Amino acid sequence: MRSPIPDFLDASLERHRYDLSGATADYIPDLASADPTKLAICISTLDGVEYDSGDADFEFSIQSMSKPFIYGLALEALGLPAVLDKVGVEPTGEAFNELSLDKSSGKPLNPMINAGALTVHALLGGKDATLVERTEIVRAGLSRFAGRQLRIDEHIAAGELGEAYRNIAIANMLRSYGVITDDPDEVVHGYINQCSVLVSVKDLAIMAATLAGGGTNPLTGEQVLSPRVNRQVLGVMMTCGMYDAAGDWMTEVGVPAKSGVSGGLFGVLPGQLGIATFSPRLDRHGTSVRGAKIFRSLSADLGLHIMNAPEPARSIIRRDRRFVDAKGDMVRIVSLQGLIQWAGAENVMREIAAPDDAVDVFALDMRRVYSINEVARRMIVEALRRLEGEGKRVVLLDPEDTMGCAGSGSALPDVEIVDSPKELRNLDLRGLRRVRDDFADQTS
Ligand code: GLU
Repeated sequence: MRSPIPDFLDASLERHRYDLSGATADYIPDLASADPTKLAICISTLDGVEYDSGDADFEFSIQSMSKPFIYGLALEALGLPAVLDKVGVEPTGEAFNELSLDKSSGKPLNPMINAGALTVHALLGGKDATLVERTEIVRAGLSRFAGRQLRIDEHIAAGELGEAYRNIAIANMLRSYGVITDDPDEVVHGYINQCSVLVSVKDLAIMAATLAGGGTNPLTGEQVLSPRVNRQVLGVMMTCGMYDAAGDWMTEVGVPAKSGVSGGLFGVLPGQLGIATFSPRLDRHGTSVRGAKIFRSLSADLGLHIMNAPEPARSIIRRDRRFVDAKGDMVRIVSLQGLIQWAGAENVMREIAAPDDAVDVFALDMRRVYSINEVARRMIVEALRRLEGEGKRVVLLDPEDTMGCAGSGSALPDVEIVDSPKELRNLDLRGLRRVRDDFADQTS
C-alpha cells in the first residue's frame, strides 16, 4: 500500500501553490532574486522517517531559523545562567531587526530577535574566538542537528554583508552598552555566515525533529541538546519565534516555530514530529506567506495545535483484584498499564490510598506500563511507602525495573520485587488460585 501521507502533503501544497501574495526579502541580494515559485514541505517523525513533497531537495539559506539552534548550542556550552545573564527570554512584539534593549536590564529581550541572536553568536567559542572559529562552530553545530555536513553559501553571505547596515547598527548598539565586547563588524560577519548555512526542507525537518525528540537527532542518535536546554529552546521559540506575530501564530497554528527571510519555516511538535516548509515570498513580518498558510491547514487537518487538550488519562488501572491466600491473608493485586504521568499517578494513588484494613499484601503489577515519568514514579513510590508504613507487605511485579526500586539506594528498601507471576506465587502467596488464572498465559 502506498502511504496516504505523501498524497496528503501533495494536496496541501497544491491548495496554496497559486497564492502569489507577498514579496521576497529585498535587503539580501540573493534572496531578492530567489525563484518565488519554489514550494516544498517535509515532515520528519521522531524515528527519522521523512515524508516530503515539492522541491524538497532545494537548498536555501537558513537565516533566522539558525537562531534557536545556536541558542541551544550556546546554552550547552556556557550553561543557562551565563546565557540568561546576557540575553532575556521575553517576547518583544517588535520586528526581528528592531534596535531594542530591555529598558531595566539593558539586555536584548530574547535570542530570536537580531539583537539577541548577535549577542548569542558572540558568546560562541568564548571571548577571544576568531571569526573563522565562530563560523566553524556554527556550521559544525547546525550540521549536528541536521545529521549531515552543511556548508555556508559565501555568495549569499557576501551579498548580505554588503547591505548589513541595520545589523551593524544593532551590533554597535550592543557594543556601546557593553552587551558584547567584541568588534561589532566581526560579530555581524559571523552572524551573517550563520544565516548563510544552506539547508533543504528535509534538513530542517530533521533539525526540528531533533528538538521534538528532546534534543536527540533521529538520524544519528546523537544527543545534541540536553532535555533541559532543549526545553528552554522550545519555550523561547514558542513565545518569541514568530516575532510580532507570535500571539496570532500560537493561537491559530499552535506549533512552536521559527521563520527565516529566505522563506523557510519550521515547526516542532514535542514528542511527535518536525515540519518544515519553503516558499520565498514573505508577509510583512518576514514569514513565508504560503509556508504559514500550509502550517495553518496542517495544524487544523492533523490536529497539531499544542494546546489541544489531550484525552484525560484513563485506564491506567488495568485490573484490581483481591484474593485470599492459603494463610488467609488478603492479597490485592493492582495491574497498571500504558503511559503514566501526573494525572495517571494521581488516579492510581486515589485508588490505592483509600483505607483498606482488610488487605495484608499489596502487589503492584507494572509489566504493561511502557512509560512512566519521574513525577509519577515518585508519587507511586510514596504511596507504596505509606502502604508499607501501615504494616502491609508490598510486592512489585516489575521485571524491567520500571519503578527504579531494584538495587541499593532504592526509595523502597523493604519492597519485594519479583520478575514473574510465577515468583509472585512462590512468595508464600500460595493458594492464589485466581492469580494462577490471571497469569495463566505467562506461566503455564
Ligand atoms: N540574516 C537576516 C537578518 O539578520 C535574518 C532575518 C530573518 O531570517 O528573519 O536580517
